[in-house]
Amino acid sequence: MKIAPISEELFQRAQNSIPGGVNSPVRAFRAVGGNPRFMVSAKGPYMYDEDGNRYMEFINSWGPMILGHAAEVVQEAVQQAIPNSLSFGAPTRKEIEIAELIVDMVPSIEKVRMVNSGTEATMSAVRVARGYTGRNKMIKFEGCYHGHGDSFLIAAGSGAITLGVPDSPGVTQGVAADTLTAPFNDLEAVKTLVEANKDQVAAIILEPVAGNMGLVLPAPGFLQGLRDLCTKEGIVLIFDEVMTGFRLAPGGAQQLFGVTPDMTTLGKIIGGGMPVGAYGGKKEIMNFVAPAGPVYQAGTLSGNPIAMSAGMAMLQYLQSHPEVYTTLEQTTTNMVNGMNQNMQELGLNFTINHVGSMFSIFFTSQAVTDFESAKTSDTAMFGRYFNSMLQRGVYLAPSQYESLFVSTAITDELVQEYIKANGEALKEALL
Ligand code: PLP
Repeated sequence: MKIAPISEELFQRAQNSIPGGVNSPVRAFRAVGGNPRFMVSAKGPYMYDEDGNRYMEFINSWGPMILGHAAEVVQEAVQQAIPNSLSFGAPTRKEIEIAELIVDMVPSIEKVRMVNSGTEATMSAVRVARGYTGRNKMIKFEGCYHGHGDSFLIAAGSGAITLGVPDSPGVTQGVAADTLTAPFNDLEAVKTLVEANKDQVAAIILEPVAGNMGLVLPAPGFLQGLRDLCTKEGIVLIFDEVMTGFRLAPGGAQQLFGVTPDMTTLGKIIGGGMPVGAYGGKKEIMNFVAPAGPVYQAGTLSGNPIAMSAGMAMLQYLQSHPEVYTTLEQTTTNMVNGMNQNMQELGLNFTINHVGSMFSIFFTSQAVTDFESAKTSDTAMFGRYFNSMLQRGVYLAPSQYESLFVSTAITDELVQEYIKANGEALKEALL
């Protein structure tokens, strides 16, 4: 039985000086019960908390730790960069190198701008799409999360749905009116919206594989259908690949599914764990960005040399080791197969969605293809399952509405440990 008295004490203390005791709502355990664990270090597949507990973990800093924690190749690059100063506020060679690498790897990106988070990337991309098209409206999908920019906090997934606030107070009606929403995987609904708002829609933005309502895959033809619609209507198609970029394939979900958007937003992975985001796309669109063009977007710490060094090391490694993707796929498939076998033995019929190194278990027997079907999952049972796994030293995302991420640090032996814990936790969660 794992206990965490120091974490409990820290959580009590944190609540006096930090709203809710955490710096990002998804870190709280509100949806699953209990108190968050306060971490001190992580290496490979494990995180260690203040009480000395060790967790095999499947958050991986919400995606970026593809190679596991403290990967040497990334650590070394950061250590080499540190003595040269932490920030210049002037251009560097590294910014060109990483831009060239991203252009090389991501099919839709001809030019790219670095920012500091996924939120900044999506906010900026939509602004550019509006400037480029001269239109105001945007279509997003229910349950997709694109960071906490005002115009995205409409029917938002991730922490917003976990806390039951998919439409946040503080977003003005004026802003909300420009965000139109459709169910994920419902191409007809999108066509109807576009028709009803003829020549007013600047952008359609989506996670090509949704990870923020739990993992939901695009139905066959959905992405291509959006591509065709956007081409026909002069709408900028934006893939938010903050989670899927460089994770599902070197060129992200757009490479995996063979559909090229006009713009792409990227995040945490290009910082190898440092705070980074980026947005890019066709030259003719990106040339609208200041100082090349009239759409203003800036950042004191953008292209930070330490973050660029970490990102370069990570991306170069992924580009030169394509076997990473087959290994991750195999490891994740083994985990999912083991979970399915556990369920079969227990006479359960829950839904597991899986692609590459991302997966989610939903406590429902319905297929999960959109936000409505994701919400049929028994979240109370998820909470019991989460805590049972935690007791067994397995750290999952503390919400039903998140994807899990597998790193290359998960060995075959750890897969067996995970499957054993899963079987026991499922049994416990049923009680
Ligand atoms: N877009 C997607 C698809 C995300 O998953 C996230 C965060 O998880 C964001 C945007 C926002 O990124 P950040 O938290 O770095 O602002």
